[in-house]
Amino acid sequence: MYGSGQKRAHVNRKRADELEIMVQAGRISALALHTALEALVPGVSTLAVDELTEEVIREAGASPSFKGFQEYPASTCISINDAVVHGIPSDDVVVREGDIVGVDVGAFFQGFHGDNAATKAIGEVSDEARRLLRVTEEALHKGIGEAVVGQRLKAVSSAIQGHAQAHGYSVVRDLLGHGIGRQMHEPPQVPNYYEAGAFADYELTLRPGMTLAIEPMINVGGPQVVRDRDGWTTRTADGSLSAHFEHTIVVTKEGPRILTPRD
Ligand code: MG
Repeated sequence: MYGSGQKRAHVNRKRADELEIMVQAGRISALALHTALEALVPGVSTLAVDELTEEVIREAGASPSFKGFQEYPASTCISINDAVVHGIPSDDVVVREGDIVGVDVGAFFQGFHGDNAATKAIGEVSDEARRLLRVTEEALHKGIGEAVVGQRLKAVSSAIQGHAQAHGYSVVRDLLGHGIGRQMHEPPQVPNYYEAGAFADYELTLRPGMTLAIEPMINVGGPQVVRDRDGWTTRTADGSLSAHFEHTIVVTKEGPRILTPRD
């Protein structure tokens, strides 16, 4: 949900009191994701999972970040197999044994957003699918590991890309991670690949209080993606499997801290 840009915009740093709220927004986002992942079983419709997840967000005193964002109709994005991201939950879409299903969900709490995603194997899946999920989650954590004070943002991008490519996979380039806070999408842009000169934000020096949503989208096949006629669902152009994992983090003097922990 974020385009590319050459000009570097101001990246705000959150104060301690703002971070306290972001911790709560992150926890609610993580609870929502956990709820959705638990609910994903063979035979369930993605709309039923979405509705349950929205209930959990609202019971926690928050609202779904995605609902109404650029007129997006649901609280979650649920993306199956070759769908990379932004799958719209529907009564007509039913989860099946052997699928890999990505859920992306955010919660808005007391003025701040959390955002996170994970991809789940439904029952027995292919060895390739299982490997893709493992490598994509590892790539996320490689990227997070570079989010340290004094480091350039491009180190995050390079770490993600390096891990994916070392396993023969490709990184989606048309969709990016992002800063997060009072807006779901704030500067900087957080690409999952490094190409010299492609983004001004690569040269951003990370400082305490910067909050980022880091979210690799990794394909078994080529990096190209296409969008469905619904205007949202984004799929691999070659029909290959794709996975997506995301955390909201804050850069601290003690290292990166995950605000959307999954226990
Ligand atoms: Mg995001």
